[in-house]
Amino acid sequence: ALTDKLTRLVKEMRGQARITESNVTDMLREVRMALLEADVALPVVRDFIARVKEKALGQEVLGSLKPGQTLVSIVNRELAATMGEGVADINLAAQPPAVILMAGLQGAGKTTTTAKLAKHLIEKRKKKVLTVSGDVYRPAAIEQLKTVTKQAGAEWFPSTPEQKPHDIAVAALDYAKKHYFDVLLVDTAGRLAIDEALMQEIKDLHATLNPVETLFVVDAMQGQDAINTAKAFKEALPLTGIVLTKLDGDSRGGAALSVRQITGAPIKFAGVSEKIDGLEVFDAERHAGRILGMGDIVALVEQVTAGVDIEAAQKLAAKVKSGDGFDLNDFLSQIQQMKQMGGLSSLMDKLPSQLTAKAGAVDMDKAEKDIKRKEGIIQSMTPLERRKPELIKATRKKRIANGAGVQVQEVNRLLKEFEQMQDMMKKMKGGGLMKMMKKMGG
Ligand code: GDP
Ligand code: MG
Repeated sequence: ALTDKLTRLVKEMRGQARITESNVTDMLREVRMALLEADVALPVVRDFIARVKEKALGQEVLGSLKPGQTLVSIVNRELAATMGEGVADINLAAQPPAVILMAGLQGAGKTTTTAKLAKHLIEKRKKKVLTVSGDVYRPAAIEQLKTVTKQAGAEWFPSTPEQKPHDIAVAALDYAKKHYFDVLLVDTAGRLAIDEALMQEIKDLHATLNPVETLFVVDAMQGQDAINTAKAFKEALPLTGIVLTKLDGDSRGGAALSVRQITGAPIKFAGVSEKIDGLEVFDAERHAGRILGMGDIVALVEQVTAGVDIEAAQKLAAKVKSGDGFDLNDFLSQIQQMKQMGGLSSLMDKLPSQLTAKAGAVDMDKAEKDIKRKEGIIQSMTPLERRKPELIKATRKKRIANGAGVQVQEVNRLLKEFEQMQDMMKKMKGGGLMKMMKKMGG
């Protein structure tokens, strides 16, 4: 795995004060592999590596960081910078109605994103929003937009498969003007692949509507192909932003880097669920961590100062890797580690959003407050009970509760939380906090 190799390389680079041609090559080879594994398109990877190399060579190693860590931090920063720094919300600086045109392949998530954006603009920007579908090829597509627009609390402008997209656009624009809408969101027809006639159609729509935003909606799972799609849409339309959908999936989201590089347009939003509220402002730094298959390493490196028991963390990492064998002793040691590292919630912030979403079932605030009590409860258990929590039935629970001076319900709660944590650990295996701690132990 990437991180294992990095661990080794970071170790090898220890004690060297500068990043040099010779020590950087191996590291960058691993980074290159990681990017390709994340499905970043090859030419984009090549460019990126060249830029990082240039930035890294001769760079002084900062403070207490080792050359390997410094390089990782350069990679991370460059990734984030390439994907766009800062937050880019929807631009509405136009004579109302501000028109937003949605473009992208069929199935990319245009219709879903149209409704998500409507909701976002209503709730966050307090706008009056109208949607309309120019997808006259599939009657179901128009109905779909109607349904999701209602869910978003916006108004839907009717269209039919008998109409021409151009006429629909003109009618909707006219209606939006007359009824003082702030925003008109225009959903468009799906393209299974780049199709000349359909490309011409959306170009015409663009000319008719003069949109302030032309958003390219792209599926994060699309991988290497994203580069060709992005090229075609960039050539056809002056894109002003990108929405990366389906980031809740398993992909490492390398498409973000490719699409951003090819179009030059900022990635404005990320789709993170099928539901209408599954839209997030795109966070480039967080996404950089995801592409590399790690959380925000730099922040973690900074956070993990003295006091962390690396030995214990490594043992834990080995267990977590297997996905099972995670017992209450580990739970206890984990609780104590987290405490030293500045609390659960601040750590969760550093992990890729995909992981934190999955870990959402665990209430971090409460976990922090209860740490002391939890330690007490686990310490009241026998070694056997800690190894085999399934043995803990009614009588044992009562004894443990008495020993820790808490109610039986609290013991139950702890056991339940342990199960959740065990679950989460399984999901984190293959790249997460523990691996990182292991890495930094080098
Ligand atoms: P369109 O053809 O571009 O209009 O795509 P749709 O909006 O109809 O979406 C295609 C499929 O992808 C639908 O099943 C959506 O529910 C799903 N989808 C869209 N965005 C997301 C997302 O961010 N996450 C997930 N999991 N599914 C999504
Ligand atoms: Mg659609």
